[in-house]
Amino acid sequence: MSDPSTDLQIDAARLPVMLTTLRLPSIARHWHTFATRADREGWGAARYLAALCEHELTDRASRRIARHLVAAGLPRGKTFATFDFAAVPTIRKAQILSLGAGDPWIEQAGNILCFGPSGTGKTHAAAAIGHALVEGGRRVLFSRTTDLVQRLQAAHRDLSLPALLARLDRFDCLILDDLGYASKDQAETAVLFELIAERYERKSLVITCNQPFSEWNAIFPNAAMTVAAIDRLVHHATILEFNAESYRKRTAAALAEG
Ligand code: ADP
Ligand code: MG
Repeated sequence: MSDPSTDLQIDAARLPVMLTTLRLPSIARHWHTFATRADREGWGAARYLAALCEHELTDRASRRIARHLVAAGLPRGKTFATFDFAAVPTIRKAQILSLGAGDPWIEQAGNILCFGPSGTGKTHAAAAIGHALVEGGRRVLFSRTTDLVQRLQAAHRDLSLPALLARLDRFDCLILDDLGYASKDQAETAVLFELIAERYERKSLVITCNQPFSEWNAIFPNAAMTVAAIDRLVHHATILEFNAESYRKRTAAALAEG
């Protein structure tokens, strides 16, 4: 007959490889600690197994969120925690926080359009909403509009635009920062229009822009495209007006005063 303690050692020695093959890193790391506790507290086998599985699931969810946060490309430190809501009297804190929670606007493929002069916190607020969405399990991509337009245009040239649009489709929400800086180059803004049309009523967009709609003719190549883009964006949109003093100027003035 085999010695049970030797059998135990052999099983324990095989576990790391098996757990790695099964992609269960948390169980691989913690099974021993849990086993000691189970022995001490007299857990049954089912309780032990359930505790390990629960641990793996919790860890897996936080690993996924950490991965999605990196992939989101959000600017660092621009979260609700660092946003001074009192500085923007035109927007309601409760509304912005609920946009960060995602429902129901993300499910309904709604958009958020942030308008206002430079320095009023549009990018910060959009990034904070994006951050909260990722923490809530949504997939987000933050990009300067000009950078994304360049990627789209390069893809258009290599005939891989549909593939790029399909990749972007995996994101529940795209944040296009500074839409107004997209230049009025025909080919450039035609791909931007294509992106807006492609996502319309399917996936969300968050846009920040210094120019009101009345100046959007300077962004798109012609009036018809401008109207069509605005129509699609506003159809299911929350519009946030950041009419405040520039936060940059304010903090600079506060520093100067000492
Ligand atoms: P905009 O995109 O409207 O030009 P930003 O969001 O880039 O403005 O804001 C400019 C700077 O001021 C950023 O560093 C941002 O974090 C900060 N800022 C703006 N508004 C606020 C605010 N309400 N609370 C905290 N920081 C703010
Ligand atoms: Mg900005």
